[in-house]
Amino acid sequence: MPQATTKLNAFPVFLRVEGEAVAIVGGGEEALAKARLIAQSSAVLHIIARNAEPELLTFIAEASAKHVAAAYDASQLEGAVMVFAASGDEALDRRVAADARRLGIPVNAVDRPDLCDFFTPALVNRAPVAIAIGTEGAGPVLAQMLRGRIDRMLSPSLGALAALAMSFRNAAERLPRGNVRRRFWSDFFGGAPARAVEAGDFSQAHEAATDLLLSDAPVHGHIALVGAGPGAEDLLTLRAHRLLMEADVIVHDALVPEAVVAMGRRDAERLPVGKRKGCHTKSQAEINALLVELGREGKRVVRLKSGDPLVFGRAGEEMAALRDAGIAYEVVPGVTAAFAAAADFELPLTLRGVSSSMVFTTGHDLKGNSLPDWAKLAISGATVAVYMGRSVAAEVAGRLIEAGLSPDTAVAVVENASLTNRRRFHGTLADLPSLEARADLSGPVMTIIGDAVAGANFERSEPLAAHRHESAPVAAAEGVQP
Ligand code: SAH
Repeated sequence: MPQATTKLNAFPVFLRVEGEAVAIVGGGEEALAKARLIAQSSAVLHIIARNAEPELLTFIAEASAKHVAAAYDASQLEGAVMVFAASGDEALDRRVAADARRLGIPVNAVDRPDLCDFFTPALVNRAPVAIAIGTEGAGPVLAQMLRGRIDRMLSPSLGALAALAMSFRNAAERLPRGNVRRRFWSDFFGGAPARAVEAGDFSQAHEAATDLLLSDAPVHGHIALVGAGPGAEDLLTLRAHRLLMEADVIVHDALVPEAVVAMGRRDAERLPVGKRKGCHTKSQAEINALLVELGREGKRVVRLKSGDPLVFGRAGEEMAALRDAGIAYEVVPGVTAAFAAAADFELPLTLRGVSSSMVFTTGHDLKGNSLPDWAKLAISGATVAVYMGRSVAAEVAGRLIEAGLSPDTAVAVVENASLTNRRRFHGTLADLPSLEARADLSGPVMTIIGDAVAGANFERSEPLAAHRHESAPVAAAEGVQP
């Protein structure tokens, strides 16, 4: 026997209200809350309240609602399509509900489910698109939570896109039924027209939709270079999440955690392209070629990179290849590792009177005789964030000290910034070389150097120096002076 499904006791419908009267009886907070909800529609509000509170009066003026400033009488409800009993007075609400029912008008009585013919939903409004959430009164807080979640998932421009879709409905009806028409709408809502609306360019959106309608040509692909943030799933931006949900293919680096890659559309193809120190799965040229190829196949691609895609992400080369091939792309910023590490350390990257500039560097440009510009900036007080700096820690420290930066300058190091398995270390520039020898660090490491680091919170960090002393016997064995 098939399992019985749980039945809804209240069935959601969308009621036509344009230009229709909706009556709200009450002059206080409850009436105002319902009035605000209904004012999201094009209904004409009739607020029946002999004594309306000032806030409600202001609302009535602003929303151009009709105010019936008289004692309640059943005749005031006539002609309305919905009635709200929101007086806060039980006897009056009962009377209103009974009158409405007698007149054949559905009624909702605030906080009195037994008197209600219908319930009002928590509403996500992207007119003409509406998402109504109901719990049959079981959990208004739950409904609000869900509302918040759904609201964040949906583009603010969804309404504009739906309005544009309406204007293309007749034209699309002329396409053959089935696959062709379905493909048109899926490209409309997921392709160039949607992107143009998202960017606020409505004439471009109109043009792109017309192109889709008229052309039999294969759809154009699109590549989004997306910052995945430092690792924690909830540091992904809403835009990144949305694009991941729409992607046909997700091309990701090894540094992007599995949990983030998993947040994409379930049936999207996932292509890891590696690039972790020492284990290159694909060369940069191969990655560029792959993106171009996917674009030519008409795929919607998310190129997912750790942190921000434009910070040590080789995005420059990928963008150049896409530009040369004439493939559309966009860039979605992400939280870069330096910011995540600073947050983990409560470390002010700029500090009034101490540091007013900041450098993102790799430390891999310290070879040779001349000091790179960033080292000079460090000496003049900038806060320096060193990416991929573990294997050059000694070189960075040595050259900076040699150039005149005090060995006592504060240093903060975070492994796996933003993740629950993060580790924090603090010390001075003189302690930094010990980082290279540590075999216990397997995750990505961010190093921040500068006087502003002294403003960080060191309560949850280990001293870097402790390790230096531990490894001293090794150094001695190698004939190095400790
Ligand atoms: N585009 C990335 C950087 C890529 S380079 C960004 O904006 O963050 C890779 C380097 O970033 C690593 O060697 C490490 O120095 C740093 N990194 C990335 N994720 C990190 C994390 N969760 N914690 C600490 N450092 C990280």
